[in-house]
Amino acid sequence: MKRVIVLAVLAAAAALSMAAGSQQPAQGLPAAALAATKVEKVKDNLYMITGADPTNRDSFSGGNTGVFITDNGVVVVDTKLAGWGQVILDKIKTVTNKPITTIINTHTHGDHTGSNEAFGATVDIVAHENTKANMQKMDAFKGDKAKFLPKRTFKDKMSVGSGKDRIDLYYFGRGHTNGDTWVVYTALRVMQTGDMFAWKDAPALDRNNGGSGLEYAQTVGRAVATVKDVDTLIVGHSPLRKPAELQEYQRFITDFVAAVRDANKAGKSVDEAAASINLNSKYPGYKNERYKAAIQAVYDELKAPSK
Ligand SMILES: [Zn+2]
Repeated sequence: MKRVIVLAVLAAAAALSMAAGSQQPAQGLPAAALAATKVEKVKDNLYMITGADPTNRDSFSGGNTGVFITDNGVVVVDTKLAGWGQVILDKIKTVTNKPITTIINTHTHGDHTGSNEAFGATVDIVAHENTKANMQKMDAFKGDKAKFLPKRTFKDKMSVGSGKDRIDLYYFGRGHTNGDTWVVYTALRVMQTGDMFAWKDAPALDRNNGGSGLEYAQTVGRAVATVKDVDTLIVGHSPLRKPAELQEYQRFITDFVAAVRDANKAGKSVDEAAASINLNSKYPGYKNERYKAAIQAVYDELKAPSK
């Protein structure tokens, strides 16, 4: 009897290890997050590896990743959480055999820079200069890991590649952080926004990394006014969007910050403001799950304007 159980256990273990073997590199990663991490075609030669919504940590692998296949190799925009590099590599292998030559990090956060190290030390890494400075403060990029920091930075605008492979990188000002890059795949008419447009809800405002709620709408407005020749957006943490939705997001943030200012002026606490502000009827499809954190950040900023 005992032996039968042992055999059954062994058989089950073998079946499990075979299942794990078919997705070897993914061992230890949550199954729901693996299932949520899919490669989707955006346009010819451009794919998005999804990362799911960070409010559901069980199905979260990081921000959306852009995969751009150029003549010279693959450009990867954002590298998800630490530990997801092999999954990104495996997903890329389903669409191209070309080597990864370039990483672009839209901003400092660990769900966008976490797997930089999976692509080797010779890969070119590009980010805004403030993002590099922010990344240098992270434990994940200290000591030996400093070689996975950006190797090239820019201030206002920079192009990577040429012709149909050209990517334009823009910095339009503070918002989510003080180093958010807007990535334009020029020939394909696609822009990747990073977390400047992450979801349809109040934005995450990372004041420790120079983010600003008060300047946010203006920054989005510059992106809208400058980058006109696009028809599709890869955003931070939700499905593909249209440029009209970014324009709507700018109006939402303008209204949201105005409402927060009014609540502040009226002497409302953060909780009272969160209870009284609701823009969901004006902006269908929007959530208000992130209002409170954003209100707190704007209140802090009103008290102590920074940088
Ligand atoms: Zn972020």
